[in-house]
Amino acid sequence: MSERRLCDLLRVEPGTKVRLDRIDASETHGHAKSDSEKELADGLVRLAGLQDRLWAEAKHPVLVVLQGIDAAGKDGTVHHVMSAFSPQGCPVTDFKEPSPLEISHDYLWRVHQHVPAKGEIGIFNRSHYEDVLVVRVHDLVPKMVWKKRYDQINDWERMLVDEGTTIVKFFLLIDRDEQKRRFQERYDDPTKRWKFKMSDLAERALWEDYAAAFEDALSRCSSAAAPWYVIPANRNWFRNLAVAEILGDVLDELKPAYPPIDPKVPANLVIE
Ligand code: AMP
Ligand code: MG
Repeated sequence: MSERRLCDLLRVEPGTKVRLDRIDASETHGHAKSDSEKELADGLVRLAGLQDRLWAEAKHPVLVVLQGIDAAGKDGTVHHVMSAFSPQGCPVTDFKEPSPLEISHDYLWRVHQHVPAKGEIGIFNRSHYEDVLVVRVHDLVPKMVWKKRYDQINDWERMLVDEGTTIVKFFLLIDRDEQKRRFQERYDDPTKRWKFKMSDLAERALWEDYAAAFEDALSRCSSAAAPWYVIPANRNWFRNLAVAEILGDVLDELKPAYPPIDPKVPANLVIE
């Protein structure tokens, strides 16, 4: 077991330049698959307790951002980690291609509507970062426009944090071979083929462009207020336990506590 906490190992220190080709997507930082089931189960119990108190206290909004290339495991992370949470306090928002209404507004308009309220843990499966990822890779707006968005995103996230939101951002890193394996598996498995689109192959061909866009987003938008974590995600079991552990540490810091008992409720009351 590694000595250092995963949150310290995997956080992108603000101001550093991320080079994804220097990070091993199969890294497990001393964790072993044989222990992972128990580790994850413990992590999920911890998360469930923290969320229960966070929800009861209704003081802190928590925003969790998930990004990653196609098949990196964003949906799997929602399924296997966020399942610790009661759905009542854990709205999940998928950001797909913007609708005509959404595209008629600024790019943060649709996103802002889904930021979590106090007591909620809001999950973004994709996010406003698509506006410096797919939008950049496909020239959906001119460079003049998207290049300003890094600062705008930092300012917007800073505002949310100043207003009380805790933000934690996970980038799930898989390598090219792992994406190939996962696409093939999706294609071959009749219960998964619905997830496979021919456009996935066109996107895969743009791997290097996406890598450059991810590197800039991670390097330019990891702040002390809203840090990015790069999660080696070739191994689903490690991805799950890393996200669970880091999220647990982030929630722990908020020290969520059940609210004090209403003074109008007498002690030793026996309900008839
Ligand atoms: P899925 O992988 O099924 O979630 O697909 C969602 C698709 O929506 C992905 O191809 C994204 O790149 C795309 N998408 C999400 N946000 C945006 C955006 N702001 N502009 C253009 N495409 C987007
Ligand atoms: Mg997809």
